[in-house]
Amino acid sequence: MQYISTRGGGGPVSFEESLYSGYTGDGGMLMPIKIPEVSMETLKTWAKRSYPELLKEVMSLYIPEEELPRDDLSKLVDSAMVGFDNPEIAPMKQLKGGLNVLELFHGGTWAFKDLGLSCVGQLLEYFLSKRRKHLTVVVATSGDTGSAAIRAVRGLKWVDIVVLLPKGRCSQIQELQMTTVIEDNVHVYRAEGTCDDLDIVKKKCFKDHDFRLEHNLCSINSINWTRIMVQTAHFIYAYLQMYPQCDGELDIAVPTGALGNMTAGCVSRLMGLPIRLICTVNENDVVAKAMLTGELAIKPEVVQTLAPAMDIQYPINIERIWYLFSGQKPLLVSRLMEEFESKGCVKAPNDLTTKLKEVIIDAFVANDDLIKKTMRQCFEENSYYICPHTATAVAYHYRSKVGTDDDNRKLVCVGTASVSKFQEAVEAAGLPVKVCPEVDRLKSLPTKFEEMRKGDSWEEILKQKIVDINTNWKMKHC
Ligand SMILES: *Cc1c(COP(=O)(O)O)cnc(C)c1O
Repeated sequence: MQYISTRGGGGPVSFEESLYSGYTGDGGMLMPIKIPEVSMETLKTWAKRSYPELLKEVMSLYIPEEELPRDDLSKLVDSAMVGFDNPEIAPMKQLKGGLNVLELFHGGTWAFKDLGLSCVGQLLEYFLSKRRKHLTVVVATSGDTGSAAIRAVRGLKWVDIVVLLPKGRCSQIQELQMTTVIEDNVHVYRAEGTCDDLDIVKKKCFKDHDFRLEHNLCSINSINWTRIMVQTAHFIYAYLQMYPQCDGELDIAVPTGALGNMTAGCVSRLMGLPIRLICTVNENDVVAKAMLTGELAIKPEVVQTLAPAMDIQYPINIERIWYLFSGQKPLLVSRLMEEFESKGCVKAPNDLTTKLKEVIIDAFVANDDLIKKTMRQCFEENSYYICPHTATAVAYHYRSKVGTDDDNRKLVCVGTASVSKFQEAVEAAGLPVKVCPEVDRLKSLPTKFEEMRKGDSWEEILKQKIVDINTNWKMKHC
């Protein structure tokens, strides 16, 4: 298996190269040359697999054995699963009224991003140690990505990570998950700025081509193919829990921001999984509209909601989704994306949207009031807390008639984060505050981070840090 750009530029690259590179030279995103098909017979044999075993099957379809022998893959996945607090990794919670929640938040930082990023961390360490090469990951984040990325690489030998976090703009738990990591290869800055300010600093650093190459910089946001690939496994796992005989079609509602998880769902369907998807969002509904009408138009401002990981302006993975449903037509994709990049809006051709809607059958918007109401209803009926992101999917469940005589389809809601991370939302919903020993433990840990103050030259600080990291690494290991 090799990887190509959604816009058709450049030659195919190996899996290993896809792991390091963010964008391709032509501004596109990497995709496998061909989506591997999984037959019903094979799917049935996967029904008894644990999540890690299933993940190994899936990954081996996308990573050639010559690049990563099966035994190494197996060890690597097992290491990635260390630190999950539930042996099932992705358990399905079956609640009243046909409500099913796929709990994807049992990893180290309590959000589904742990699933993909923990594998990215292990894969980086594997390939870098083989090449005897060091790499620095740079992340600018407000949400769950920073903490999950830190968690995924802490203590690794061949990788350092620098994280810029916007002071006062993450939830307290998110910030603590980043600032309480004391391993030498983790470097956290708390900056007096917004997420966008920080992103600009990071981008400047990456635009300096020579600097980037010399210091081997890498970005692991959701443009990283490996994260998408890993996430296909939980769609398959969810399906097989509901239909172990593979004798039905399953609907899955996915809380959506940058469309990474959704892309993984689409890929799993194109692999042959009998699922349909529902895209659920908060008030930032650019994605919902794009899925339903084909029209992608950026709004002037991002609204702050109770579900901050979905407060996203531009759903970056829409390029991959259009690529997939256009029948992998790079010319069409480049035309659409170029028009979007120059005008801030574009409309996909109707036949593309029609194709897409066969798989992404609906899009649903839940505003903060509905999110709160849904968190309450779910708690009252089941004594079960859901996070505000998960609530957008559960709101769709309550709104539809799933589980009644009129509607006997099965629906799974993807649970993207643990409620422990979003206590502010629990309070806003008027629910009793959940006691979380893990949170208290976090608050008692020593912290390690540096401040970036207004007036400092952040780009210089960041670059100097990266230079120091490289110097220190060479002193220690060469
Ligand atoms: C990142 C995130 C999302 C959105 O996922 P995408 O793949 O970006 O669509 C939803 N919920 C939570 C809790 C997240 O951290």
